[in-house]
Amino acid sequence: MRYSVFSLIRNAFSGHTDWPAAWREPEPRAYYDTIIVGGGGHGLATAYYLAKEHGVTDLAVVEKGYLGSGNVGRNTTIIRSNYLMPANTGFYEWSLKLWEGLEQDFNFNAMVSQRGVLNLFHSDAQRDASARRGNAMRLNGVDAELLDREQVRRMVPLLDMENARFPVKGGLLQPRGGTVRHDAVAWGYARGADQRGVDLLQNCEVTGIRVQDGRVVGVETTRGFIGARRVGLACAGHSSHVAAMAGLRLPIETHVLQAFVSEGVKPVLDQVVTYGAGHFYISQSDKGGLVFGGDLDGYNSYAQRGNMPVVEEVMEMGLQLFPAFSRLRYVRQWGGVMDMSMDGSPIIDRTPIAGLYLNCGWCYGGFKATPASGWCFAWTIAKDEPHRLNAGFRLDRFATGHVIDEKGAGTTPNLH
Ligand SMILES: Cc1cc2nc3c(=O)[nH]c(=O)nc-3n(C[C@H](O)[C@H](O)[C@H](O)COP(=O)(O)OP(=O)(O)OC[C@H]3O[C@@H](n4cnc5c(N)ncnc54)[C@H](O)[C@@H]3O)c2cc1C
Repeated sequence: MRYSVFSLIRNAFSGHTDWPAAWREPEPRAYYDTIIVGGGGHGLATAYYLAKEHGVTDLAVVEKGYLGSGNVGRNTTIIRSNYLMPANTGFYEWSLKLWEGLEQDFNFNAMVSQRGVLNLFHSDAQRDASARRGNAMRLNGVDAELLDREQVRRMVPLLDMENARFPVKGGLLQPRGGTVRHDAVAWGYARGADQRGVDLLQNCEVTGIRVQDGRVVGVETTRGFIGARRVGLACAGHSSHVAAMAGLRLPIETHVLQAFVSEGVKPVLDQVVTYGAGHFYISQSDKGGLVFGGDLDGYNSYAQRGNMPVVEEVMEMGLQLFPAFSRLRYVRQWGGVMDMSMDGSPIIDRTPIAGLYLNCGWCYGGFKATPASGWCFAWTIAKDEPHRLNAGFRLDRFATGHVIDEKGAGTTPNLH
């Protein structure tokens, strides 16, 4: 059934009790042509585009928990394409273009809100860096505006512009950036994939990857062995240990990132704002809660919860920018496990094992990449070669030296 105003009216007559389930609950089959491991945003988007763009429907997504239980439902929902490095710019801009038409494409309301992403700067050197980034974006056809102090003051009146230590000097705005309701993205892709015949297998953990004569032949799961000609891994924070099941050692470390939500208030903040002198970012959800976050927890972990020092640090940084928010109560906090790559950029590639493909290294910025990641990974799997948009996201770039060090931070995952 298509979701529309007509289906809404029709279902109103039965008190909205007859809506069909958004996707089936099939039993695993013994064999699929292709299996995607991980029912997060990237895995579900990959399945959707494999079916829609490449006609691959003998396909299953294998998820150890429930769909969307990972980072796709834990992030702070920011989308943008304000990148500097050529390998990233084209990819993230394609993602933003897909976001712009996504709801019509998969017939699901994901509340895409292009409210603008504003990166503040606090020194002359930072202004130069912002101007450089903005110019690179515009040269690549991406929208960017360099705002002076007064423009920022008018746009975000609650900002403490005179912030004693790091006064705000201006900002780089990407007007087309914004937020998207994260779990609706998982549901929309899941429903779209299911409608095209993809089996979504929940509560089905992959416990082994079977390889014979250098070729993948299937996966061991908690619901039995499932054979497959091709297997794509999209396990985000669990990428290293799932890839290790096939004997692969990845250039990935897993770290915890926390997010926070305040009580709901009337509209006070229209854009996404990021602090240039500390790791802090904030936006206001449509329900009114302020959604914010900061740095990684500073140690490697697979635990989806955070620690107190980071809570204090994030609050401190937030109040440096917005002292008025000290009156708000914060109501929820959670953590997610991030697949931090050694140069801060992702991997979408084949692996040395025939038929085994890899999608990982999203660090804490993979939500915005979801549509393009699924689209490119589907291409890579279907054609057994990368698309030009993900040609730079190679697994062997750390050996060959073709790293994509967007932040210039080197091999320090905690700084990406
Ligand atoms: C607090 C926080 C804030 C963030 N904020 C942003 C943001 O504002 N903007 C942005 O762009 N990005 C953000 N991110 C990053 C973004 O959420 C991730 O990069 C992205 O969601 C990762 O891809 P995914 O959706 O496929 O991951 P996930 O949803 O984690 O999907 C991976 C799936 O694999 C499954 N899995 C793992 N192991 C197995 C196994 N053995 N068998 C079967 N299934 C398995 C997991 O259960 C999980 O469902 C944030 C992340 C966090 C935690």
